[in-house]
Amino acid sequence: MSTIAAQRVKTEVPGPRSQELAARKAEFVSASVNPAFPVYIASAEGTTLTDVDGNEFIDFGSGIGVTTLGHGNAGTTGAAVEQIERFTHTLFGVTPYEGYVEVSRRLTEITPGDFPKKSMLGSTGAEAIENAIKIARAYTRRNGIAVVDHAYHGRTNLTLGLNYKATPYAAGAGPRPGEIYRTSNSYPFHDGLEGAEAARRAIAYLEKTAGTENLACLLIEPIQGEGGVIVPAPGFLSTLQRWCNDNGIVVIADEIQTGLGRTGKMFASEHFDFVPDLVAIAKAIASGIPLSAVTGRAEIMDAMAPGALSGTFSGNPVACAAALSVLDQLETRGTLDRAAEIGERLQAGLLALKSRFPVIGDVRGLGALHGIELVHADGTPNPEAYRALSRLTLERGLILMAGGSDGHVLRMLPAITVTDEVLDEALAILEHALEAYSA
Ligand SMILES: *Cc1c(COP(=O)(O)O)cnc(C)c1O
Repeated sequence: MSTIAAQRVKTEVPGPRSQELAARKAEFVSASVNPAFPVYIASAEGTTLTDVDGNEFIDFGSGIGVTTLGHGNAGTTGAAVEQIERFTHTLFGVTPYEGYVEVSRRLTEITPGDFPKKSMLGSTGAEAIENAIKIARAYTRRNGIAVVDHAYHGRTNLTLGLNYKATPYAAGAGPRPGEIYRTSNSYPFHDGLEGAEAARRAIAYLEKTAGTENLACLLIEPIQGEGGVIVPAPGFLSTLQRWCNDNGIVVIADEIQTGLGRTGKMFASEHFDFVPDLVAIAKAIASGIPLSAVTGRAEIMDAMAPGALSGTFSGNPVACAAALSVLDQLETRGTLDRAAEIGERLQAGLLALKSRFPVIGDVRGLGALHGIELVHADGTPNPEAYRALSRLTLERGLILMAGGSDGHVLRMLPAITVTDEVLDEALAILEHALEAYSA
């Protein structure tokens, strides 16, 4: 492993200027909006964040997998600026523009499944999820929504009901929506089940508790992000899909975090021989400009009345221009291969750390989406270790995200433009942090 480069962090963290801003934040911003790392960012370039005190951090969060092509990406910035100069808004539902149609078309080409598809665009991930569910219900004329343990789908009123964790997302926010049925997922580190076995268990539970004929859709992340980078056992997703296909249940893949190259393929579903009917897309699609989409089977996408889908900012033209550049870059030869290569390098480094530090119970992930599950000696979740390690890495110049329903998974989502040098430096920082933690 390489050593840590020049001192990235020059002050205590947060530094004095960040502390001033945090005090102002406490006065003027809702306490329910709670930054994980209160280092206020002044600029960002590539895989580096620079805060208002001049400290640098290697960004292994990427705004939770949004800046997949790196901060300050020249292609997306150029495309967005050019569009801003032409026009910033008309509302596609009033007077349309080409960018929206082109993004819609391109998404139909790259999403899994060889059948006619259509898209609709929104602004946020939760909006995409809500619309996918509306569409699935209208198409099937059924109400039930099936979700799995450890799922995360957003923070709007409907999506609060879809999430596994009540706190902090839903606690105190009133009754959660009905007709949502939760079943078990595949979590090989804990359940030790083969994929098909885990799927049969999940299906049996849904058949009893929801009633197959009541289900409009199954909504599932191919790899759970927030839930702790949980990679299902092979055969889990495809077995669920077959059951849905046989029973008229629309399969919705939440690829908001896993999509668009992050796992080394355009969509994570492709790793699992999983062909959803609808795909929810957001996060990385426009390099940080809010944009989301639902893409899927044309006949399902057309189920609602004309005018049913849209919103003031849905499919904003600046975001569409940026998205077209993102798609161009992802479709450039070698980009996805590089994401896969990052995964191999990251996984090798993390497995080497696992062999030395028993606090690491499991290392898992694909491409530039990896997690390490932190455990106590008896294998139970160890959120204290996450808190200690994320603090130690922050002080050494590396931002790592939390994940896991117990906040006990270190989650890594570097840009797929990250260099080997920076990757190795991040691993070296993590190694130092683990040594300090274990000392
Ligand atoms: C982030 C995320 C969402 C919600 O997206 P927002 O843009 O925050 O509304 C939904 N599902 C998954 C898997 C996500 O990672």
